[in-house]
Amino acid sequence: MSGPGARLDQFMGRANAAYYAGRDPFSDFITAPEISQVFGELLGAWTAVVWQLLGQPDPFMLVEAGPGRGTLMADALRLVRRVAPACHAAARVHLIETSPRLRQEQARALEGLTARPASWHDAITDVPDGPMILLANEFFDALPIRQFVRRVDGWDERFVHDGAFIHQPASFPPAHPAATRAVPEGGVLETCQPALDFTRAVVERLRRWPGAALLIDYGYDAPAHGDSLQALRHGRPADPLRDPGAADLTAHVDFHAIAQVADGVDVWGSEPQGAFLAALGLHARSEQLARAAPEQADDIRAATARLAAPEQMGRLFRVLGLSAGLKGSLPGFTGPRAAAGNEGDAP
Ligand code: SAH
Repeated sequence: MSGPGARLDQFMGRANAAYYAGRDPFSDFITAPEISQVFGELLGAWTAVVWQLLGQPDPFMLVEAGPGRGTLMADALRLVRRVAPACHAAARVHLIETSPRLRQEQARALEGLTARPASWHDAITDVPDGPMILLANEFFDALPIRQFVRRVDGWDERFVHDGAFIHQPASFPPAHPAATRAVPEGGVLETCQPALDFTRAVVERLRRWPGAALLIDYGYDAPAHGDSLQALRHGRPADPLRDPGAADLTAHVDFHAIAQVADGVDVWGSEPQGAFLAALGLHARSEQLARAAPEQADDIRAATARLAAPEQMGRLFRVLGLSAGLKGSLPGFTGPRAAAGNEGDAP
């Protein structure tokens, strides 16, 4: 690295580490498991069915990456304990979380819900050997990205200096998949190496032991370009380059690039979140809850719409599945991914 400023991924990594270590992130944005308990319950049901399709491995690693407040895992475990006690007993819960403060909150949320004490890790590579079911919701969008700007004769890379972008010439390896994308002059191309590294680590595990992974995030599934870096503070957009650590920095997730590194395992989707949740029974479960608590029926239906309606989270959020050793199809998906990749929404 030469010159002044921090490369964007270094800036974003430091800003988010400070943000997640020091604040209550959920005063700035709300995620699917915080919107409705049905989200975690459906993923719990998904886990129990997938466990059956994997031949009921006992024990197996039930892993969540970036568990936030622990709400998703808590809702999922409650459901699994009720409908599939053998699966609940076989699950060894492993959480990948770097924020000490959120680890504490997760421990509180999971109290009394795991058959064995849960464990925390900094990285997926620290999870013990064995079959695995992995869940990740809004994990990839917080991982640091790099941004490249197309020049007539090459690429610049973005660095952050005094709250503003500065450009420095970038060198792209000619074989870099990004370098082959048709980006017009002045256009921005984003890459997220940590998301690809994480996916490769998941894929490596799936090549050795049976398992499945569900990656849920907002993003696109086509070769795309554009600047998608954003900051949210108190639910409103903020300047991502000012006050690092005061706001959550995120970027759209490139499911196309992620699927491309998933060599040698089965890939499912990506599907829009609305279609995926509907296939798992979102609407039936939500109506059941609404009938059981008529005074809350409007809130329950509004939460369901928020998760699934195309103009809310139903279309921008997408779900990608990976699996190995599964007898049958991965629940929630219409079928395996076509070799050439799916259509999706670019940022
Ligand atoms: N999945 C949760 C929270 C999403 S917020 C939900 O749906 O509500 C992102 C989460 O990822 C936080 O828990 C944050 O601390 C964690 N995180 C961010 N970067 C991380 C990293 N590099 N390694 C591990 N965890 C990380």
